[in-house]
Amino acid sequence: MTSFQTSDCRGCGKPIVWATTATSKIPLDPRAAVYVVDRAGMATRAPDGTFVTHFATCRDANKFTKSAETKASAQDEIDALREDLRKERDEVAKLREQVRRSKAPPSLFDRPAGDAS
Ligand SMILES: [Zn+2]
Repeated sequence: MTSFQTSDCRGCGKPIVWATTATSKIPLDPRAAVYVVDRAGMATRAPDGTFVTHFATCRDANKFTKSAETKASAQDEIDALREDLRKERDEVAKLREQVRRSKAPPSLFDRPAGDAS
């Protein structure tokens, strides 16, 4: 009987089987059903020892890719830019209010205290 190196996925916790390719070590899903489909569309179960990559079945697969890190980093920058934009909008609103007040006709109630003119 063949023995596979197994462990639980650090993301989703499901069992995975480890195997090696010519260039890397890959996680496989021992539970996912795998089928062989012929040209007529007829499906039969794949032979024992056939697996689907766990990256296809793991709900946390995006945690293990470089693009996920890049996306997270890009999202941080987007959040920071949104915050900058919000602050600038507040500043623009204050300046607009300042302009509106300067243009508004003087009112008795706006005069500074002690201004007798
Ligand atoms: Zn997983």
